Amino acid sequence: MLIDSHCHLTYPDLAAQIDAIVQRAHDAGVRRMLTIAETPLDAQAALKLISGRPGLYLAAGIHPHNAAKCDQDDLSALADLHRGLNLAAELRQRIVAVGEIGLDFHYDFAPRDRQEEVFRYQLDLALQAERPVVVHARSAEQRVCDILADFPALAERVVFHCYSGDEHVTRRILDLGFWLSFTGVVTFKKADTVRAAARLVPRDRIMIETDAPYLSPVPVRNRRPCEPAFVAHTARYLADLRAQSLAEFAATTTANTCRFFGLPEVNT
Ligand SMILES: [Zn+2]
Repeated sequence: MLIDSHCHLTYPDLAAQIDAIVQRAHDAGVRRMLTIAETPLDAQAALKLISGRPGLYLAAGIHPHNAAKCDQDDLSALADLHRGLNLAAELRQRIVAVGEIGLDFHYDFAPRDRQEEVFRYQLDLALQAERPVVVHARSAEQRVCDILADFPALAERVVFHCYSGDEHVTRRILDLGFWLSFTGVVTFKKADTVRAAARLVPRDRIMIETDAPYLSPVPVRNRRPCEPAFVAHTARYLADLRAQSLAEFAATTTANTCRFFGLPEVNT
């Protein structure tokens, strides 16, 4: 049994065939999926999508790419969502994290000071909502760590998703108590840096994800869109890399993901 800890099921390519995608995930042993909303509007679409589909969970945040476009109304809408305003209890329980949030100095779609402002607002929100944080950090890992230092209460509750930092930054992140999550990128030929990080992370702080609809892993790299079932390939690859059996690695990452996001334990 596996969990895809990060995918974007509201993207049209996936949303249009959601039941088939959930079925194929189940067939591949992927029993739970955490879909990530990048704006409050996206979160509304995600709530509709997870409603009536047990096993689907939601992280809601404002992606750093959207930091310039988002206004106070968006930030307030996100806060209301995390407070569970106007939501049935069943759905409220399935909003499990604030994310993905962070900084992207690779694309720089929003001015850096605005990205930081929106990031800090959402870290405060995570504290208030007592929810863990899914971080997107691209060419900005050190700055993200600097900012997170101002939020010591979140130390064990932060995961760097689609992780690809170098050894120096990996050691800093791990020293600070944060978690790492790996996508299919780790299976790519040129991803030696990612593989080094995947060897370094302790077994109780690693998670796996697809980041679907992007980043299909080897050996299905040419398949579009990527979908949660494919996390099984990444799991097999990482188990080999870390010299663990697939069963052991699957059990570990599943237990980790349940613990990190506060998901109910899985028996079947
Ligand atoms: Zn993502």
